[in-house]
Amino acid sequence: MERLMIEGGTVLPMTGQADVYENGVVLVESGRIVYAGPRAGAPFLPGARRINAVGKIVMPGIVNTHCHAAMTLLRGYADDMRLMDWLQTKIWPAEAKMTADDVYWGTALAAYEMLSGGITTFLDMYFPADAVARAIEATGIRGIVARGIIAVGGPSEALSRLDESREAFHRWNGNAGGRITFMVGPHAPYTCPPDALLACAELADELGIGIHIHLSETAGEVEEARRQWGKSPIRHVYDLGLMKGRHVVAAHCVHVDDDDIAILAETGTGVCHCPVSNLKLASGRTPVSKMRRKGVPVGFGTDGASSENMLHILGSEMRIGAIQAKELEGDPAVFTAYDAVAMATIEAARALGMEAEIGSLEPGKRADIILIDTERPHLTPNHDVFALVAYSALPSDVVTTIVDGRIVYDNGRLTYMDGREIMAKAREAAARIVKS
Ligand SMILES: [Zn+2]
Repeated sequence: MERLMIEGGTVLPMTGQADVYENGVVLVESGRIVYAGPRAGAPFLPGARRINAVGKIVMPGIVNTHCHAAMTLLRGYADDMRLMDWLQTKIWPAEAKMTADDVYWGTALAAYEMLSGGITTFLDMYFPADAVARAIEATGIRGIVARGIIAVGGPSEALSRLDESREAFHRWNGNAGGRITFMVGPHAPYTCPPDALLACAELADELGIGIHIHLSETAGEVEEARRQWGKSPIRHVYDLGLMKGRHVVAAHCVHVDDDDIAILAETGTGVCHCPVSNLKLASGRTPVSKMRRKGVPVGFGTDGASSENMLHILGSEMRIGAIQAKELEGDPAVFTAYDAVAMATIEAARALGMEAEIGSLEPGKRADIILIDTERPHLTPNHDVFALVAYSALPSDVVTTIVDGRIVYDNGRLTYMDGREIMAKAREAAARIVKS
């Protein structure tokens, strides 16, 4: 495997706010970081391919904690609607027409978009799992596949989807150099009755993996849970035992009370904070700083492209999420630029339970690295590099994206797939899906 020497850039390893290395060096060997720091301390790596990073910020790849990647095919198809109307009249009928190939191209499009904006890892909840895994393999991105499980049609519906999850796990887990991993993906407590949730927990234990689920996204959902079970969705899932002894990653957690936050903190449940999706769907505002103060690991997520419209965290979740966190507590000091960058990288990795492998540039970790070009008017001058990344940088400022030590996106082009073919196939699929 190739050795890389990325030199001359401003290196942000995301190991602390004070760790910023001008004219720094990052060394990569066999897909992993060997060194990230000042030039003076860098060991010699014979035969390394040199990447000139002068004028660029070198930082860990961004981690997208929550996505429905293939929903790129429905981008802009049904905006400005209320949730149930949106699902019932637009999304579900369109999804019913999607083939596995459509999902493959939709996921490839999502991966292309994410890599172009510096996202190197995403946690996906969609189906079929095989098609999602194939697209991860082909594009070069890192992905965690959670086959979405909805069990409103009774136990047999849940069982067949659990079987599919298990089969896909055995076929794909750890493939593509370890870039493909799995979680079990019960959609939400309102679409999975308790027996289905427990079956998901059993499967997670059998496979030794975590659980990804939507929790407390809307006020209506929480109200309905209180009516049905006499408690919040988070308390409900906790009481069922889902959060005991396994890692749970919960999307949204917008409408949470102190008891909910205490549960999330106690169990180390990772929270996917999707501020743009929550704002656009008028779902509410997640008390993100409060959760972080209580020790809940929180990372940014985009959600699907039919609610957030673009699968970018740079210039989107990072910027809007930071602004919203300040507004929410009426205090601009409560959430800093560094907090925003951390929530896009190392804290997001922690939320996914992957902080030993990704999220920062430290020796031994996977070499998931991005280069941001600062030779842009909106990134000039540089007083505080974290402020540049959190508040000014756009996804299109990312010039190079590296996953597992492989350059997967460089100067506007994917390395392992033809971006124009992906867009053409996605357009074809999208047109067919929405035709009535
Ligand atoms: Zn979602």
